[in-house]
Parts: sequence; C-alpha cells; structure tokens
Amino acid sequence: MSDSQINNYPIWHPFTQMKQEQTPLEIVSGEGCYLTTKDGRRILDAVSSWWVNLHGHSHPFIAQSIAEQAAELEHVIFAGFTHKPAIDLANNLLKILPDNFTKIFFSDDGSTSVEVALKMALQYWFNLGIKHKTKIIAFRDGYHGDTFGAMSVAGKNSFNTAFQEKMFDVHFITTPENGQIEQSLLEFEQLAKNDDIAAFIFEPLVQGASGMRMHKPEDLDKLLQIAKQNDIICIADEVMTGFGRTGNLFAIDYLVNKPDLICLSKGITGGFLPLGVTAASQRIYDAFYDDDKLKTFFHGHSYTANPIACAAANASYELLVSPKCRRQIQMITESHKEFLLTLKDNKYIKNARSVGTIVAFELEDMGETSYFHSIRDKIYTHCLEQNVLLRPLGNVIYTMPPYCITKVELERVYEVMVSCTDLLKN
Ligand SMILES: *Cc1c(COP(=O)(O)O)cnc(C)c1O
Repeated sequence: MSDSQINNYPIWHPFTQMKQEQTPLEIVSGEGCYLTTKDGRRILDAVSSWWVNLHGHSHPFIAQSIAEQAAELEHVIFAGFTHKPAIDLANNLLKILPDNFTKIFFSDDGSTSVEVALKMALQYWFNLGIKHKTKIIAFRDGYHGDTFGAMSVAGKNSFNTAFQEKMFDVHFITTPENGQIEQSLLEFEQLAKNDDIAAFIFEPLVQGASGMRMHKPEDLDKLLQIAKQNDIICIADEVMTGFGRTGNLFAIDYLVNKPDLICLSKGITGGFLPLGVTAASQRIYDAFYDDDKLKTFFHGHSYTANPIACAAANASYELLVSPKCRRQIQMITESHKEFLLTLKDNKYIKNARSVGTIVAFELEDMGETSYFHSIRDKIYTHCLEQNVLLRPLGNVIYTMPPYCITKVELERVYEVMVSCTDLLKN
C-alpha cells in the first residue's frame, strides 16, 4: 500500500507487513468456492480461507441455522448455565470422535484449544499429586497458534523471536517424515526415560503452517506407543487436520493408539464463526472431578460455547456426515492422487505429496524451504492474477479446497499451481 493509502486505512492486518503488502482486496460476497470482490472479480478460494471453510462460502443451510439461533438465544454465561446447541454439538462430536473421548471443553479458537489441552495435561499430573511430570515433548517445526503456550510448543522460529525469552522450555524431537522414524523413536525413548514428561503434543499426519510436511500414520503410532508405555499424555492438535481434511474425519482415525486430548477449531463451524474445542478422555476428566475445589479446571472465556457458533457447528456437522460430503472428500482425494502422477516428470517440482484433501509440492532449486522465501510473494501474486487464491508457505505450493469444489474447478487450481513453475523459467 502507498503511504497515503495506509494513513487513511484503519486496520492492522494479521501476519502482514503493512508497509510492503499490496492493498487488501475488498470482498463483498462469497458463494461455493468463490469470493467476489467489490469490483466484481470472482476468486477461487483454493485454501479455504486459512483452512476454515468446509462446505463453501455463505452456505445457506449454515447461514439459516445461525439466523434462527441468533433470534432465539444469542449468548448466555456458560458457568452455571447450559443450552441445547452446546449439548447437541458435544454429542455430535463425541459420536464421530474415537470412543475414548467422553467430554467436550469449549473455547474460542485453535490457539486457545491448544492452551486448554496443555493446561489440562499439566494440571492432570498436579491433581494426582505427581509433582515430577512437568515437561512437554513436541515435534520440531510444528505450529500450534500464537498465544504464549502455543508458541512455546512450536519452538523458536522467526515469527516469535521477540518473545523467546518468555516462552517455556519444551523438548523437541525429529518429526518422522522422510524415513526419519528411527531418529524420532530414539529421541523420544531417551526423553521418556527421565520419567518427567507430562505430555506429548503433535499435529497428526500433517504439519500445516511449517509447510504441509507429512508423515505416516504407522510411524506416529509407534511414538504414541512409547508415550502410552511411559504414561505420557498425548495431545493431538487437529485444528487444521480435523473434519475430513486428511480423508478420514480425523487424522487420528488412522492410528491404533488414540490420544487423551484432541484440539479442534478451524473447520468446526464450517468456517462461519470462531469456536474452539478440546475433547478429553474420561481419565483426564476424572482427575479434576473431586470434592477438592482446588482441583477445578480454572479456565474459561467470556464467549465460551457461544450458542450461535454452536448452531453453525451443528449445521456444519450435518453437512459433513452426509453421503454427499463423503463422496466429495473421496473425489478430491482421488483427484489429488491423479494430479501427483502428472507431476512426476516435472523437473521444476519436488516432494509432491498428498493426504486426503491436501496436496502440496515445492518449487525445485529454491534452496531452503522457508516462509520468508522471496519466491513466495511472486507465487501469491501470480495465482491471484489468475483469480485463484493460493497462499504458498515459502516455496511450498498447496491446495486445501472447500469440499464443495467441482472436478473442473480442481483442474483449474492444479493448472494454476503448475503454472507457478513459469516463474522459475524466466
Ligand atoms: C491454525 C492452527 C492453530 C491455531 O488456530 P487459531 O484459530 O488460528 O488460533 C493451532 N494449531 C494448528 C495445527 C493450526 O493449524
């Protein structure tokens, strides 16, 4: 934006260097996979608006549910009071989560769902009177949100340099990607020996923000096995992978060993309203259920379990479990696999990979994969010029479309993704 434009613009955008970035596009409406700008451009949203949208923009069924709920009950304090939209949502989620989950705790977004899980895990041991289990293990290069606890478990990186002194210590282990499982296991076993580990937090199957880095379920399962053997609480951060992104409803559905806590947000309301959820196993809940008031989980947010957000989530749930949505997820999954085959001989593309509805590749010869890679801005602009919204993570180009996308629209997205290699040729 030019200096004069900036001075008249009242907003400070997230993850945005306001001095360098172009004027943000003003969107006036959305329908299906498309966003319409003020001047009438239709942009195909191939990243589901930061991974939140499941069924398309302004989906009429979700919009209707929200309108009805707002007219009935907009909000109520969630301590001492409850309401049907929240009870229905908790029951819906427990229906589709693995059987070991029995309780739903509400919060506001992905970061807070992670904070809640970390605090539950730490207080679990505290409540049991086991004072030495206080450390946390996480994968290197993870992303869990922007609050202090969430930053701490992601580790030190270029985004949190200013805060590193205030972040708590976490043990980081190698992610089992690219055949590094032996190294991961070795590091995990070494740490587990100390008997001071409270919890292990991970993004199952896909590390999203750090570049759609993927690992195999059987490898993650081996790590969870060690965690179980050493009585370490497992926290699956499914804020991004939840609600069908990896093909199954949850990435942990691919695992034999189930975690004790799971963090959900992003897709939960179909992309309509902010809402976070931390689901807990009975074992975790039982450690707080006591005559001793000090064993209470003292955590809550003003808008906890907002009825309108819950209504949106219940509507999104109905769409998600419909046969039509399952077919769409299947179609996208198959389509991505076919797309990968076409990339095989492209010398400008490396590490092409997919899981479920997510497909990603890197542009070759761009050195280290990094968010700050100079090619990133060029790719972003190049795609947007063709009316496709793709937000590369450094030199990693990926799509994670709303499930309502058609085969024809997908082909268009692939075409634009591959055309990014032209940027290397000139
Ligand atoms: C986006 C994300 C978060 C943070 O969610 P917010 O709603 O942005 O706070 C946490 N974990 C993962 C895996 C994410 O992708």
